[in-house]
This record gives sequence, C-alpha cells and structure tokens, in this order.
Amino acid sequence: MRSRFKYMRPGAVREAVEMQTACGSGGHYLAGGTDLYLDWKNGYPIDCCIDISHLHELDYLHTQAGSLRIGALTSLRRLEANPGTDYASRALADMARVMCTPQTRTLATVGGNLCNASPAADLTPLLICLDATLTVLGREGQRTLPINDLCSGPKSTTLDPSELLVEVEVRLRPRAVAAFRRATRTALDIALVIVSVLVSTDDHQVINAARIGLGSVAPVPVRAEEAEAPLLGVPLADIDSELLEDVAARAAACAQPIDDARTSAAYRSNATATLTYRALSEAIAGLRAKDGVR
Ligand SMILES: Cc1cc2nc3c(=O)[nH]c(=O)nc-3n(C[C@H](O)[C@H](O)[C@H](O)COP(=O)(O)OP(=O)(O)OC[C@H]3O[C@@H](n4cnc5c(N)ncnc54)[C@H](O)[C@@H]3O)c2cc1C
Repeated sequence: MRSRFKYMRPGAVREAVEMQTACGSGGHYLAGGTDLYLDWKNGYPIDCCIDISHLHELDYLHTQAGSLRIGALTSLRRLEANPGTDYASRALADMARVMCTPQTRTLATVGGNLCNASPAADLTPLLICLDATLTVLGREGQRTLPINDLCSGPKSTTLDPSELLVEVEVRLRPRAVAAFRRATRTALDIALVIVSVLVSTDDHQVINAARIGLGSVAPVPVRAEEAEAPLLGVPLADIDSELLEDVAARAAACAQPIDDARTSAAYRSNATATLTYRALSEAIAGLRAKDGVR
C-alpha cells in the first residue's frame, strides 16, 4: 500500500532546507518527480515531500568566467536545447537528447538525475568526465564536493538528508572533447552500459588529461582511472588502435558488472570495452580535427 505523505511548498531554497531538517530522514525533496513518484508508487516510504520544483532561482544554465554553471532544477529539455558551443555543453546536450522521452525530459531535472543516485543515471558518468563540482546547501551550511564523491551505493548518496543540490559547475578546459556511447535494448530504455570519455591536449598536442566514466556496470558510477593512465603524455598524432584497445580492456577491468533482468554481466563487460574504444575514437578524432593533427 502507498504511504500518505505531507506535501510542503517552500518559498525559497533556505526554507526548503529548514523544512527538510524539521522532517528528518523521512523528508524528501521533489523536483520533477519522475523518479521519486515511481519510488513512492513502489512502496518507498515518504513522510514529507518538499516540493522545490517552482524555485526558479535553481533553474539556470550559463557559461561565465570559463565555467559552465547548471542550476539543479535545470530540466533535461533545457540541457538538450542549450546552444552553448563548448565541449561540455555539446556533450551534455547530446546526452540529454537520448535520455527518457520528450515528455519526461520537460519534467526531469539535472539535480534529480544525480541525487537519485541510480547506477544507470546517464548524466553522472559524463559529469565525472567533466570534473564537475557540486554545491549543496544543508542544515550545516553550504559546501562543495567533486561529483565523484556523490554516490555511495545504488540509490544512496553521501549527502546529509537536509543537503539540497544547488548547482553543478564544470570548469572548462582550453582544448578538450567529450564523447559518450550507451547500450540500450530499445531507444527509450534505461542504459545497459554507459561509457563517457573526455580527452584534452596541451599547446603541443600532447594528451594532458583523460577521463573515462562508466555507468550501469557497478553499484555506483565509476571513474576508470587505471584505464586513463596509458593515454597521458602521448602525442595526439601517436594514438593508434592498439593503444585504444589496451585502454578499453583496462576500462572493462574497472567495471563490476552483474547479471540482472535486463542483461548479463558478460555482455556488460564486453560492451564496456567496445563502447570505450568507440567513444575514445570519436573524442580523439574530434581533437585531431580541432588541432589540425592527422
Ligand atoms: C519514462 C522514463 C524514462 C527515463 N529514462 C531515463 C534515461 O534514459 N536515463 C536516465 O538517466 N534516467 C531516466 N529516467 C529517470 C529520471 O527521469 C531521471 O533520473 C530524472 O532526471 C530525475 O529528475 P527529477 O527532477 O524527476 O527527480 P525527482 O524524481 O524529483 O527526484 C529524484 C531524487 O533526487 C532527489 N532530489 C531531486 N532534486 C534534488 C536536489 N536539488 N537536491 C537534493 N536531492 C534532490 C529527490 O529527493 C529524489 O530522491 C527515466 C524516467 C522515466 C519515468
């Protein structure tokens, strides 16, 4: 049976935090509701539902002083329509475009996708590759944390229940390309495997940063740091398929896939390697085109 909950509508972000603090661990923030209402329908107990969906001060998306700033209530629809031409805006728009359905994208928010902490959330591995920083406000005040520190388990975060995600910030690198690949059973399905990557070069066209973020292959989204290492310090012109195959195999070794109703661990492991290879190939080709390297 579905539990009854108290509906609360704060007038400002700080009031939302006060309401959650008064409710305790049974108080949950409601953004688009595309995850929370399903959880509630499936029996997840909610004592207080603190509706933040109308707090427009959390709905913004702009680039300022070399940073892309995304308010937590930015919808996937808005992310998809962002005309920004930097590598982060483009990758996030491309990702938003393949998530959910058009109707769901108008409701679903960036903050909800991250804070729901699903191992299959599409934005988290990409934002890990973009080295995103999260700003949260809670009963103890405001703090920032790297996105890599957000998830602690399936549907569980390191945030205090009172902490409300306010903003996602991506500091833009001078020369970088981000790309992703995801495997799904149908076009509208939650991903079976998600691989996001970022590659960046210095003034001499040498790789100075590489990121590989994996989703749906472990209890939490994973940064495959051990797989990134062989790319560092390599001139862009010297990257070949042998190196990318090695990196892809290492990325698969960073996954801890399981068998579930949607697919097998073996499929997830193979797909992680294949999709890493493809996403990296796209990112490297993009960088070569930018830098005029053959
Ligand atoms: C038909 C359908 C298709 C979907 N397809 C995809 C898909 O392809 N890829 C994918 O990744 N997801 C998918 N989803 C999941 C979902 O749409 C996303 O995770 C969505 O972005 C969640 O955002 P929301 O605003 O609806 O969150 P809500 O449901 O409002 O909240 C989700 C959780 O996050 C918490 N929360 C929300 N905002 C904040 C905040 N600012 N601070 C702290 N906590 C917060 C809530 O308390 C709750 O626990 C799909 C869902 C549906 C219904």
